[in-house]
Formats: sequence, C-alpha cells, structure tokens
Amino acid sequence: MSTKKLNLKNFTPKLIRNFSIIAHIDHGKSTLSDRLLENTGTLSKRKANEQFLDKLQVEKERGITVKAQTATMVYEDHLLNLIDTPGHVDFNYEVSRSLHACQGAILLVDTAQGVQAQTMANFYLAFEQDLVIIPVINKIDLPNANTEKVIRELNTLFDFEEEDIILASAKANIGTDDILKAVINKIPAPKSILDEPLKALLFDSWFDIYKGVICLVAIKNGSLKKGDLITLAQSNKQYEILEIGLMYPNEVPTDELYAGQVGYIITGMKTVSEARVGDTLYHSKSKAEITPFPGFRPAKPMVFSGIYPVENTEFDLLRDAIEKLTLNDASVTVEKKNSAALGLGFRCGFLGLLHMDVFKQRLEQEYNINIIITAPSVLYKLELTNGKKADIENPSDFPEPNLIDKVLEPIINATIIVPKNYLGPMINLCESKRGEQIDLSYLDEDRIILKYKLPLNEMATDFYDELKSISSGYASLDYEEAGYEPANLIKLDILLNGAPVDALSVIVHRDKAYHLGRDLCEKLKKAIPRQLFEVVIQAAIGAKIIARDRVAPLRKNVTAKCYGGDISRKRKLLEKQKAGKKRMKQVGNIELPQEAFLTILKK
Ligand code: GDP
Ligand code: MG
Repeated sequence: MSTKKLNLKNFTPKLIRNFSIIAHIDHGKSTLSDRLLENTGTLSKRKANEQFLDKLQVEKERGITVKAQTATMVYEDHLLNLIDTPGHVDFNYEVSRSLHACQGAILLVDTAQGVQAQTMANFYLAFEQDLVIIPVINKIDLPNANTEKVIRELNTLFDFEEEDIILASAKANIGTDDILKAVINKIPAPKSILDEPLKALLFDSWFDIYKGVICLVAIKNGSLKKGDLITLAQSNKQYEILEIGLMYPNEVPTDELYAGQVGYIITGMKTVSEARVGDTLYHSKSKAEITPFPGFRPAKPMVFSGIYPVENTEFDLLRDAIEKLTLNDASVTVEKKNSAALGLGFRCGFLGLLHMDVFKQRLEQEYNINIIITAPSVLYKLELTNGKKADIENPSDFPEPNLIDKVLEPIINATIIVPKNYLGPMINLCESKRGEQIDLSYLDEDRIILKYKLPLNEMATDFYDELKSISSGYASLDYEEAGYEPANLIKLDILLNGAPVDALSVIVHRDKAYHLGRDLCEKLKKAIPRQLFEVVIQAAIGAKIIARDRVAPLRKNVTAKCYGGDISRKRKLLEKQKAGKKRMKQVGNIELPQEAFLTILKK
C-alpha cells in the first residue's frame, strides 16, 4: 500500500477516529483486526490469511497478543487508527497508555464464552478513561452461539442497550461494516488542535533490525515532520526525526503527521529503553509551553527469576540471546549473577507471570539454549532490626531471621469468573493461597464473580494452571496490584550434603514452611538420580533443620560391573546420552536434573 494518494493534511481532527479493540484472550481481536484492514482495502485478502496483527510465535501458540500493533485505514473519507493493545493483565500499564491515545474502544465478546475476567478488566480500564465503548458480540456463526445470554450479560454488567450491541462474526465477515460505521458515528473525533505547539504521546516502540528503534506516537496537538528536533519530557533527551509515517499497515513514510493522527517515527535511538511508553514528545524549541501527559511511570518488574545455562560453556550464547530479546522489550530487567550452585547466569525481572513465561519460551525455542530457571520470586520490602530498610527479590539475599523486623509483600486484587459448579474448589484454591475473600456475586444464572485479595508470591508458582485445571478450563482470571502488606515470611533453604543450594531457596509463609520443607525434600528425593555416594537432602530455616531425606548411593557391585571391556564403554555412552537428555547440572559434586529445580515451581 502507498500513501501517495492520501493527503494527510486533509484529514483534520474531525475526520479522524482513534480506537482500539479490547477483549478477553481468544475472543477474536486479531481476526477482527484483519477483517477491518481487509474491508478498508488496507490489507489484501491473500496476505491477511495469516493474522497480520499477531507476530510472535509464542503468541500464536498461546493465542495471546503480547505486543501491541497498530494500523491506519481509510473508510468513508475518515482516517481510522486502530490502536492495538496487549491483551494481558501483565501489560496493564501499556494497555492504559495505548487507550490514552484513543477516544473509543470496541469491546469484543465471544458469544460462546460470554463475558470473562479480562473482558471486565478491559471494560473498566476503558470506562475509567471516558472512552466511548462499542459492544460487539463475536462468533455468531458458531453452532453453540448463545447470543441472547451474552446480550443479557452485557446489559446487566455494563448497562449496554440491546439495540447498541453489534452482532458479528469476524471469521465470516459478518457485521464488519456495522462496526466500521459505528466507529465513525459513535466515537468522537480527537480533541486536537493543529495551531498549537506539538504535543504527542509515545505509546509503543520496538526494534527493527534494518531501521533501528521505531516509536508509535499519537499527535495530540500541532504537527511533526521529518527533520524536526524533538525532546522527550521524561527522559529529557533530544532527537531528530529521521523518518515519519503511517502504519499502513506496515511503515509507509509520509512528509508530516498532523494533529489527531497516529503514526511512527524513527529517530536514531539506540535501544527501546530510550523510548519509554507514556512519555511526551514536543518540539525542542517549545519546551517551556508543554505540560507532559499525566500518569507516566517507568516499567516496574513484579516477578523475578534466575536464568542459568545448563552448560557453563553456553553462558555467552545465553547472554547474546538475552541481549537480543531485550532489544525489543525494555521492560525486562537483566542483572548478571553468580550463583554459588549454578555458576554464572542472570537474574531477570518481568512485568508479570505471563511476561516471564513468554520470555523463557522464546529463549528456549528461538535460541535453542538449555536453561535452568529458578522458582519465580517477587519484590519484598524489609524493615531490619538495625532500623534500615531493604528491597529484596532474590531469596538468597534474604537476611538471617534474627536481623529482620518486618517483611512486607506485594498484594493483588484478583477477579475470577467461575461457573457455579466449580465454586467450592475455586474458593478452596484461593484460601489455600492465603487469599481473603472480598466479594462474591452472580454474573448470571450459572456463573459467579469472585473477588479475592491474594499475595502475589502465592500466585507466582502455578496458580493460573491450578485455576484452569480445577475448573476444566472454564474459570478466567484478572488481577491488579494492590500495594504491600506485612506478612510472616521466612526463607526456606535446601541443603544437599550439608551445603545450601542458593538457587533452591524460597520465601514462604511461616505456617506453610514445615509442610513445604517436607514436600520439597520428598520431591527432590524423586528428582535426584542415585549417585556414587549418598545425597542427604535437608530443608532448613536459618540454622534449624526442619525436614530431611536421602538418596541412597548406587550399590558398589553395580558400578563394579562397569569397569573394563566393551560393556563399560557402551554403558558410558548410554549414560552420557541419557544425561544429555536429562539436562544435568553439576552442583558441587552432585548431578542435578532440570526437574530438581522445577519441583520448587510445583508446590
Ligand atoms: P484474540 O486472542 O482475541 O486475538 O483471538 P483470535 O483472533 O486469535 O481468535 C481466536 C480464535 O477464534 C481463532 O481460532 C479464530 O480463528 C477464532 N475466531 C475468531 N473470530 C471468529 C468468528 O467470528 N467465528 C468463529 N467461529 N471463530 C472465530
Ligand atoms: Mg490475537
């Protein structure tokens, strides 16, 4: 596509609509985006076959959109900017920033699934920002469509009137034109003024190997053209605009972008960490006149994990892979770490659990590196007996119990939507994770909305998997941060033959420590293969041993048989092959398989 025929200057703010599509995972956001691009002639039908807006392999596998992707289209003399938002709670801040560039949103609900936890969270995010919301029920082509019921849900939960709800099938291209018309007729034009000094919102960025850092901007006021000198308010750094254009649907250069429009800029930034989402951009010469957009905050990691190569010789490979991945994700924090047990590796911080999973998967799948990942941890705030304070996320940095006066842990407010016949197990799960019930209400005749206050560290292991498995996949979850609260937390150490293995330490509530200690010893006993010597497994709180188990040594005569002759060589080779498959990590003189580290993940 080319923008030659588009004279952008003609698209005054009143002919512009900026909107996003918000939905629970799998409700059809990518498919609808493709249809909108096709129906407006922005994308040819053939190309659209492989969902244009989803780019990462893991995204496809898991059916999630991790990275926002934005596109411009023209429909009935209007310039429509579809601003795609990440579809997951981990990226709530990014969602709120991209919504800030919009005046309206399409709320998409799968007719067979009905309203889900992320539908609610996304609705309220958009509602709080005063966006005009267009309700759309998708997948009406499905045989098990339950459209009447979903209409009732949208009405009781969000006050939408039946006549305002568009019935659509993104797959069969039903209702798409109604959606485009509603975007033009119901969503207000941006309140932008061309004759004001430039003020623009930076709401997304990524690294392109050919062009370098590409930033997406929404021009609030004024205009911006190639060669302009701009300053970013939060970083206070200055750049020259080297290229500017529209996402149409890929980068198409133009001369200038005007008030109300959305497009990309290239400035010669070296890394995406310079392009902080939510930052305000203005002409360097008009600095004094501009008030930055409110609500900016730097990316804040919530979940941490150690990442180590299985083979110490693969450290350089791992470092390069992490560097490449973070080129496109400034929100991952990376710190080099030397673990006594695991050697050289990294401690990484992530926005949330899914963010962490995606990162790990990409490391393994795209870079094919064998890695050991330690149990996820969260950021604790400690008050020490000497009056000092400390923020600690790595269990191995936790001070001895007698040095700690108070530990504060991060708390989240979770919203869970669950069919009522799974309510009992769901409540049990939340209570077992130290949850505190805030609310329980009926969503409709067979589903319940549960609100729980939960410690983030209890969710960091396998909460989501358990939630899915006890509800046969029907429950959905969303959460938001809810500050810090004191808790009786301690560090539980694991010792192998008397030596603490730092990478196996966990922070746990005191009431759960004994049970967890016993459980871990038992699981480790199963995970650690027999060695030539006895392996004693102990769980300890400070100097106090609270649980113990052992892996008996291989019997002498078994190994004796191996010496000498062909059999031994064959056996050695087989052994070696097996070890390779099992990804053994040498910790001291003990061979630990990857599973040993994973046992900690499955509480
Ligand atoms: P997203 O996670 O919200 O981006 O959802 P996707 O667009 O990736 O769609 C999730 C799944 O639903 C895919 O398998 C789509 O093919 C399917 N899907 C999307 N829209 C429709 C529809 O209107 N009808 C049917 N039957 N399936 C759809
Ligand atoms: Mg998608």
